[in-house]
Amino acid sequence: MSGPLRVLVIGAGPGGLCLAHALRREGVDVAVYERDASAHGRQQGYRLRVSPDGEQALRDCLPERNIGLLAATAGSWRDHEIAAYDEHLEAQWAPPLGDPRPDSAELISNVDRITLRQVLLGGLEDTVRFGKRFTGLEHDHGRVTAHFADGTSDTGDVLVAADGSRSRVRAVVRPGDEPRDLGVRTVFARIPRERAHAGGLAEVLQDRFTYVIGKQGHLGLMPMIFRTRPDVAGHTWPELRLEPAEDYYLGVFNIHREDLSISDSALHALSGTALRDLVLEHTANWHPALSEVFHHAEADSTFLAPLRVVPEVQPWEPGPVIGLGDAIHAMPPSGGVGANAAVQDARTLAAELTALARGELGLTDAVERYQREMAGYAGASVELSLRIARWSMKKLDLDEPDGGAR
Ligand SMILES: Cc1cc2nc3c(=O)[nH]c(=O)nc-3n(C[C@H](O)[C@H](O)[C@H](O)COP(=O)(O)OP(=O)(O)OC[C@H]3O[C@@H](n4cnc5c(N)ncnc54)[C@H](O)[C@@H]3O)c2cc1C
Repeated sequence: MSGPLRVLVIGAGPGGLCLAHALRREGVDVAVYERDASAHGRQQGYRLRVSPDGEQALRDCLPERNIGLLAATAGSWRDHEIAAYDEHLEAQWAPPLGDPRPDSAELISNVDRITLRQVLLGGLEDTVRFGKRFTGLEHDHGRVTAHFADGTSDTGDVLVAADGSRSRVRAVVRPGDEPRDLGVRTVFARIPRERAHAGGLAEVLQDRFTYVIGKQGHLGLMPMIFRTRPDVAGHTWPELRLEPAEDYYLGVFNIHREDLSISDSALHALSGTALRDLVLEHTANWHPALSEVFHHAEADSTFLAPLRVVPEVQPWEPGPVIGLGDAIHAMPPSGGVGANAAVQDARTLAAELTALARGELGLTDAVERYQREMAGYAGASVELSLRIARWSMKKLDLDEPDGGAR
C-alpha cells in the first residue's frame, strides 16, 4: 500500500453502515455505495430483533448520538412473552398473560428497519453515495476499482461486499457461492397495531410474540411498539428527517412452495394485495382469531421473499475483496440474528482494517483474522436460524437427499 488505506463498501445496510462508522472513528478513509436512490421511500419496513451481542456491536461501532436516537426509537416491548399455538389456537406453549416487564430507556432489543437505516446514516452524509448500483470490479497493481451502473467508478485498497444475500460482488468474485433456496416462500406484512386492535385482534395475540405452527404453513406475529415515534424522537436531529411510523406487528407467513397451487414465477409477480389474499386463502380453515390476522395487513408493505441459506460459512480467498453480513452468510430470518451477525462483522472487520491502516498487520493476516472470528458467531447464527426454521416448517429443501436441487 503506497498511501493511506482507502476502503470501498458496497451496500448501505446495517453491516455496511456500521462498518463505515467504526472506520471513520479511527480515521480510516471509507466510501459507501448504495443502489437505492435515497434514504427515503422504502416501503418494506420490518421489525428487527436486536440480540445482546448485536446491541453491543452497535454500541461499539456507533457514535453516542446515533446510539441515543436508536434507543429512543427502539421497541419498548421485549421478547419475553413468546407463545406458540397450532392452527386451532390450541396452546403448544403459552405463558399466562401478565403485566409487561418495566421498560429500560437505554435497552435496544428491537428496532424498525427503516428507522435503523435512517439513524445509521446520521453523520455519514459525506460518506454514503446513493444511486450507485455496483456492476463489476477490476484489480490493478494491488488496488480494486468498483464500477457502477451510471458509468462512474472508484478505486480503493479494499472492497467490502456488504450488498446483502443476493450480493452482486459475490456473484462476480465467487460465482457458484449462491445461498441455497430452502423451498419456503415467505410473505411479510406490516400490520398497524391500532387498526388490528380496533378490528378485533384476539386478546391472546395482542402485544405478544406469537408463533402458529399449522400443518401447512407457519404464521408469526411480532410487535413493534416504538418507545418514541421516530418522527417525534427525530426532532433532536432534524437533518435526518426520520419518517413517521405507527406501532405495528410484523406479520409473517411461511409456506413450502409444494403446498402452493401457483408457480414460483406467478407468485413473484403478485401484488401486495394478492399476497395478502393468498395468506388469507391458506389460513381460511384456521381458527377465526388466526385466519383474520392478515386482514389487517397493509397491502403496500406486504412483500414476498424466498428463504435462503449458506449452510456452512465459507471463508473467501483472503485478499482485497471481503465479504460481510448476508453477502457471505445469508440465513433465514427465523432466528432473528442475520442483522446481528452483520453488525458484529462490522465491528470485527473494522478492528482488523484499522490495524492494517496503521501498518500493524498485512492484508492477508487482517482478512484471515476477521474471517476466523466471523465464522464462529456467524456459523452459530446460521445453525440457530436453521434449527428454528426446521421446527416451524417441518419441510425444508435442504433436508432432502439431493439438497433440494431441482
Ligand atoms: C422480514 C425480515 C425480518 C428479519 N428479522 C431479523 C431480525 O429480527 N433480526 C436480525 O438480526 N435479522 C433479521 N433479518 C435479517 C436481516 O434483515 C439481514 O440479515 C440484514 O439486513 C443483513 O444486513 P446486511 O448489511 O448484510 O445486508 P442488507 O441489509 O441486505 O443490505 C444490503 C444493502 O446493499 C444494497 N445493495 C444490494 N445490491 C447492491 C448493488 N449491486 N450495488 C449497491 N448496493 C447494493 C441494498 O440495497 C442494501 O441496502 C430479517 C430479514 C427479513 C427479510
